Amino acid sequence: MNETIRLIDLLNKKARLAVILAPSFPIVYEYPQIITKLKKLGFAYVVEVSVGAKKTNEQVLSLLQRNPKSRIITSPCPSFVRMVRTKYPSLLKYLALSADSPMSATAKLVKERYPDHQPVFIGPCIAKKLESSEDRPELNILVLTYKELDEVFTNFNISVNMPTGNDKFDLEAKDTRIYPMDGGLTLTSGVNRILKDEEFRIVSGWRNVEEALIEFQSNPKIRFMDVLFCEGGCVNGPGIISTLPVVDRKKKIINYFNKKTS
Ligand code: SF4
Repeated sequence: MNETIRLIDLLNKKARLAVILAPSFPIVYEYPQIITKLKKLGFAYVVEVSVGAKKTNEQVLSLLQRNPKSRIITSPCPSFVRMVRTKYPSLLKYLALSADSPMSATAKLVKERYPDHQPVFIGPCIAKKLESSEDRPELNILVLTYKELDEVFTNFNISVNMPTGNDKFDLEAKDTRIYPMDGGLTLTSGVNRILKDEEFRIVSGWRNVEEALIEFQSNPKIRFMDVLFCEGGCVNGPGIISTLPVVDRKKKIINYFNKKTS
């Protein structure tokens, strides 16, 4: 059973579900209409994954500050983690695998705040399905892309143009809403203010990643690498159906970041 059918089945059974919505959502959905649509589908709670991103930042900063000599490569991108595992196993020790990704951190929060509710991640990334099933099976996160969510809306006749309500996120976090752009983790955690320019790198796009890893290996001054596999970051993830170029997708993220939502 694929994830779209599983979600339709769970909604038909009136299962207790909390949706955790990735911070790239403003590229494909309007706020707050998307929350109204998700509640109408039957989700009990709608939570921003930017809430979990704050936890990721705290954990990564703690790793960096615990030891002034530590060298860290970020790990919220499951595609990149898999590339290191298969092609660069000698660099595995630098991956910040003890820090939760924003998706996993948000799922943990849902389990604490809304016990008995299954987290359903909606986002731009197919690889997050592997993070859920292979890396964090204990969190029981059902993962769908925006494209798959649209199929679920169609199945339940939830119109694209339904009126916007006054719904708000049940849990929200503003500062980390730029997370899906390359460098989002570095900027929102403040790593760029703690380290000197020559001590950190922000890298996105699979073509650039290998070169950056080679530099990391040969240059011990680099203490921190913030890596996302898609060019420009998760704003360019494979689960986003959009004709907008990356620069315009980023504008949508910034517009939402600047919006007053509570
Ligand atoms: S950069 Fe791409 S592959 Fe990596 S988490 Fe984001 S959307 Fe997924």
